[in-house]
Amino acid sequence: MDEGEGAMATAEVKLQKPEFTNEPFVDFSKPENRAAMEAALKKVASEFGREYPMYIGGEKVMATEKKRSTNPSHPSQVLGIFQKANVEQAKAAVEAAAKAFETWKRVPTEQRVEVLFRAAKIMRERKFELAAWICYEVGKSWAEADADVAETIDFCEFYGREMLRLAGPQKVTPYLNERNFMVYIPLGVGAVIPPWNFPAAIATGMTVAALVAGNTVVLKPSEESPTIAAKVVEILYEAGLPKETLNFLTGRGHDAGDALVKHPKTRFVAFTGSKEVGLLISEATGKRQPGQLWIKRTVLEMGGKDAIIVDDEADVDAAVEGVTLSAFGYQGQKCSACSRAIVSEKVYDTFVQKLVERTKRITVGPSEDPANYMGPVVSETAMNGILDYIEVGKKEGRLLLGGSRKPGDGYFVPPTIIADVNPKARIAQEEIFGPVLAVIKAKDFDDALQIANDTEFGLTGAVYSKNKAKLAKAEEAFHVGNLYLNRKCTGAMVGAHPFGGFNMSGTDSKTGGKDYLLHFLQAKSISEKPMN
Ligand code: NAD
Repeated sequence: MDEGEGAMATAEVKLQKPEFTNEPFVDFSKPENRAAMEAALKKVASEFGREYPMYIGGEKVMATEKKRSTNPSHPSQVLGIFQKANVEQAKAAVEAAAKAFETWKRVPTEQRVEVLFRAAKIMRERKFELAAWICYEVGKSWAEADADVAETIDFCEFYGREMLRLAGPQKVTPYLNERNFMVYIPLGVGAVIPPWNFPAAIATGMTVAALVAGNTVVLKPSEESPTIAAKVVEILYEAGLPKETLNFLTGRGHDAGDALVKHPKTRFVAFTGSKEVGLLISEATGKRQPGQLWIKRTVLEMGGKDAIIVDDEADVDAAVEGVTLSAFGYQGQKCSACSRAIVSEKVYDTFVQKLVERTKRITVGPSEDPANYMGPVVSETAMNGILDYIEVGKKEGRLLLGGSRKPGDGYFVPPTIIADVNPKARIAQEEIFGPVLAVIKAKDFDDALQIANDTEFGLTGAVYSKNKAKLAKAEEAFHVGNLYLNRKCTGAMVGAHPFGGFNMSGTDSKTGGKDYLLHFLQAKSISEKPMN
């Protein structure tokens, strides 16, 4: 098997780019930006209800079964009609990607990188439109939707530059008078399986990382966010990506997704989602299928039960603000969301009282209306799951705010605070993925750290304290992939905060970091003895 050979075409890299900087967020206090977003929401609404094909081997493909994507703020609104791929179509998509790999792996790196930079440019031009789709399909507020688009652009710009760095011969230690070097070559076909909560950023990040490294992809988006994925795919095609390299397969996880994961020609799986599904994929990829030539590689980024520690030497007002934004931003539906506030007993009562006052100011309602800080949760199933947890929580602690669905047809769950929760309680241990915060009392800082580390997860965490020694202790002992000191625990920026967690939070692949592309490459050492 000569997979990856030919990637030597990457040796000449001339494309120069200025250093990466993050895409700025839109300032919606400016009237022109508000007007642009209003116009985009109107334009996008006029496109509701279209049917979207899948793409397999560059061809449009329809399925007999369909799935509607709806707006969680107004569930009767149908945004798009999508194909429900069957297992045969999933297999065909992997075969098509395997065929396309033979060509794509030989395309010079610069050409692959240029696709990402062109895609970033198109996304920048269509920023408001993309944000509007995100707002409608998964219920993000304007600011959250804009941040999702900015991160999407960042991934294209960052991974493009990273691939330029990794292209061509890599230096090794000189040895004897041999000519020695190492090159990074692609892996093969990747199944890319993202979640719905960063429907543009995560779907794009995993996809473009795989593609720019020279792999081909079958992208199976979440059932909750196929429209945004379809828009991203359209943009990548428009940016010049050969259609055969990116197969777009909509369908259910447990059949179409599972078929991608288990296919013998799938070389790697890039997944972001729940612990349960991540573990299923880990198990399925560990088993060799008939005809399978490799050990499948996996990038599995999973859930969290993230904590913010509020020390007795903290600026309590800053901590209240950080906890509120981390717990209730995007309805608590971020893997990085704070779902546990662990508060030193000396400041506990003050903190809780201020937290409740602050959270009462949060507005909840349809996300197309910028007056609402919080929109709906993503689906009826998600809402029912969250409400079930709230019932459990009412028995496990003292309900201080929220606690039931907001009237109306949308899936609105108001911010819910439950205090005096035991660190071992279910709502302190299990990922709820909604706007539910457990407040836990700690004896002192050491006790708080111990409680913070005492879950099966290890994704993000934050500490509020003015005591430098305590912060240093947290740096060493708070076992999370992303630790924040005196700031909120959400909002990782590409480049600045490489992202990924420990333990049951995943494989710590560090998206948006300088190690990330290596997950999509394999290294080949070449050593030549000079001829006489
Ligand atoms: P999910 O696990 O339900 O679904 C994720 C993806 O897996 C979807 O595309 C789904 O269709 C697919 N899938 C489901 N069953 C499958 C199977 N058997 N085989 C193959 N694919 C299958 O997660 P979700 O509800 O979309 O997302 C929320 C979860 O994602 C939360 O747990 C959250 O913490 C996590 N998340 C983690 C990160 C991170 O970086 N660690 C980032 C965002 C979200």
